[in-house]
Amino acid sequence: MRQDQEDPYQRRSAQVYAAADRAGSRFVASPRAVLYDAVLLDRDGTLIEDVPYNGDPEKVRPVPGARAALDRLRSAGLRLAVVTNQSGLARGYFTGEQMRAVHARVEELLGRFDAWLVCPHDDADGCDCRKPAPGLVYAAARELGTTPSRCVLVGDIGRDVGAAMAAGAAAVLVPTPVTRPEEVAAAGWVATDLPAAVAEILRRQQAVQPSNPPTEPVRTALVVRSDSAGDVLVTGPAIRAVAAGAERVVLLCGPRGRAAANLLPGVDEIIEHPLPWIDPNPGPVDPEAMRSLSARLGAVGADQAVVFTSFHQSALPLALLLRMAAIDRIAAISDDYPGSLLDIRHRVPVGVPEPERALSLAAAAGHRLPDGDEPVLRLRRDAVPPRPADLGDPGYVVLHPGSAASSRACPPEVATRIVGALADAGHRVLVTGGPDERAVTARVAAAGGTDLGGRTDLAGLAAIVADASAVVVGNTGPAHLAAAAGVPVVSLFAPTVPFGQWGPYRVPTVRLGDAAAPCRDTRAASCPVPGHPCLSGVDPGDVVDALRTLAVSGGGGR
Ligand SMILES: [Zn+2]
Repeated sequence: MRQDQEDPYQRRSAQVYAAADRAGSRFVASPRAVLYDAVLLDRDGTLIEDVPYNGDPEKVRPVPGARAALDRLRSAGLRLAVVTNQSGLARGYFTGEQMRAVHARVEELLGRFDAWLVCPHDDADGCDCRKPAPGLVYAAARELGTTPSRCVLVGDIGRDVGAAMAAGAAAVLVPTPVTRPEEVAAAGWVATDLPAAVAEILRRQQAVQPSNPPTEPVRTALVVRSDSAGDVLVTGPAIRAVAAGAERVVLLCGPRGRAAANLLPGVDEIIEHPLPWIDPNPGPVDPEAMRSLSARLGAVGADQAVVFTSFHQSALPLALLLRMAAIDRIAAISDDYPGSLLDIRHRVPVGVPEPERALSLAAAAGHRLPDGDEPVLRLRRDAVPPRPADLGDPGYVVLHPGSAASSRACPPEVATRIVGALADAGHRVLVTGGPDERAVTARVAAAGGTDLGGRTDLAGLAAIVADASAVVVGNTGPAHLAAAAGVPVVSLFAPTVPFGQWGPYRVPTVRLGDAAAPCRDTRAASCPVPGHPCLSGVDPGDVVDALRTLAVSGGGGR
């Protein structure tokens, strides 16, 4: 089935929604810099040993390996900034002059930094720059001529991670003895020390860059992403990378991912077919259906296939069907031994964000995002219908309580209290959900929101999300719609899968919920723990605070 064959907006010319386009970057990245232009570093406990309220240059002691690690970043073309809370200034424990002497000593020992961003305030000042507020991250990105989404911050406590995420930057936590266990649990990316953090930053940057560009041009590429809407959306950047290197892209998706597939730029044609080894509730394997799928895939005439999967899924059964369809040059991630089923067997460490994991497979298959494209999620603007006029002006908050997996849904009583708290704080709240979630959305919206349960399909939901000032949502498809529209997310994230892999990608985010709850890493579809404790303890006041943090970060009342 051809998608929008006559559509004037298709493929590379498609107008898209994207977070990065809202900010505009004046820094021209080196061609190697796909993911990051800059690394932001916390000072005390990250670059140098933490000596509380230190005004004495003689007491500056770099952490082990700091100089060599920073020099690796510099020679990779990355810009470096220090982002540091120095409330000792507000409290009068040292002077600005003493602090500058300390910073001069840091540069003497560790080399030059391209920018220094200091918050001189105290918690009581309520400023926009004291971490975990995102002000320093925005300021550093501005100073370095880039955007927060192209920055990665390295820090030693939850305040550092929170500031980076609230600005839409990546964050690596390098714990020290003062780091609290819950801060480690909540972080999406943890490294043992500064050199290890730097090594992984550079490895991820390199992994999305093809080492062997294809020797022959690719006419038709078959890309595959089965599973649900969110899975398809996070594979979008990788599919655009393949599209940049192929004349035509055919996407094989499953029924649950079809609506999302329709929204992806770079796709010329869609084949929808369930794959019984991927579906969470599969029917029996029908030999006739498999034979007909194989024949249909053969008819695509693909000269390359790239099979995208989640870490717990196997690409090998489909690879066999593709081989039977006489398709050469098959690439997939596989920890299982693939024998001769794959031409490119790619492997990725755990913890890498799904969009980057997929981009690294595209790179292994010879493809990279074209210059000018960013590794952010995007939607075809022409595939998103106009937003219903009766919803009023943009600037509302969307609360999406449900999820296809109940373990990742916000308990209705919590969602109800959140709506009440948001309404009390003056927010207009739209409550969204699928046709089978109407009972829940009606109950939740009754606390002070507008019930849109069952009113939209995925594309219609995208239109509503795109005009929101923020989306409050669990780990489910609409979180990725928000990321694709560049709309900040308050993520009520059940830790059944790693946040670092599945958290909203490259968009300002505040994470709430108990990251250390017993459901952690179980991949459970329904909560295995009585009372659903990871999300039932979310304080509605924290959601209100999270929105305040994100609105401050938006810089101009989005
Ligand atoms: Zn400040």
